[in-house]
Amino acid sequence: MRISQIGEFGLIERLKNILSSQLIGDDTAPIQIDSKTFLLTTDSMIEDRHFKRFYPPQAIGWKVISINVSDVVSSGGTPLYALVSLALPDLEVSYVDALYSGIKTACEFYGCQVVGGNLAKSEKISIDVFMMGKAERFVSRAGARPGDKLYVSGTLGDAKAGLELLLFEKKHYEEFELKLIERHTRPTARIDYIKHISKYANACIDLSDGLSSDAWHISNMSRVRLSIKKDKIPISQELYLFCKKHGKDPTQYALSGGEDYQLLFTHPKDRYNPFLDMTIIGDVEEGTGVYLNGELMHPEGFDHFKL
Ligand code: MG
Ligand code: MG
Ligand code: MG
Repeated sequence: MRISQIGEFGLIERLKNILSSQLIGDDTAPIQIDSKTFLLTTDSMIEDRHFKRFYPPQAIGWKVISINVSDVVSSGGTPLYALVSLALPDLEVSYVDALYSGIKTACEFYGCQVVGGNLAKSEKISIDVFMMGKAERFVSRAGARPGDKLYVSGTLGDAKAGLELLLFEKKHYEEFELKLIERHTRPTARIDYIKHISKYANACIDLSDGLSSDAWHISNMSRVRLSIKKDKIPISQELYLFCKKHGKDPTQYALSGGEDYQLLFTHPKDRYNPFLDMTIIGDVEEGTGVYLNGELMHPEGFDHFKL
């Protein structure tokens, strides 16, 4: 049996069984030390898988830190320290300088620091970040309760449109197109939500693979049914313009587009905070599965091995 036959998530389940660990399977692993909760997570970016050599290295450095911070935030925590393992060919040193200046800018923005790492030679560039954060209260994917509302931060689908635009390699991009590209190359982890998530969220996940697949993780782990209303899913003006221009369906981008790094979370309606850009997109109910306007929703997001 090949990995592609069970997919990324099937493989994670097998590894979880081999290691017989209960801590595997959330955005971060919560570790208790001296009655404090620390969060551990790791995420990597690999050339030709997550980025192309022609991308600005500063942006790659920014993004690899951001995607790890995003997992810490979705667990209700703040980022503290990171280790960076870099594997790369014999490139110009200036490339690595630029990559690390992006890493440094991101760490300053998020309030964390790189405290070590590893270097190895390889055919392609691979950047692996291990991150540690801390939390007052660990928020998992498993705490959603029937009666909660389902929320997302920001707008969805922008990063997928940005990636497509970037791969067009056009000479000239319009203003709204540049904004979408920026959403793909320089996503910002939602540290402005840390307090809110940590205080009020019953369950939370960051949207790295796409709403249609990430919502299933909350549904499966919380053993609840999620009912999403299609017309409530927040779409940006830029994505509307993009879809109009190319004859595409923005909802499709919002559902299947990965790498938005927005937050999907649940809590009672009276915890809604009008000062944050959150939208109620549906309800948490008794039952199982994820439904879109009453129809079972199939996961269409990113799976490393099923593509
Ligand atoms: Mg995550
Ligand atoms: Mg990860
Ligand atoms: Mg992640």
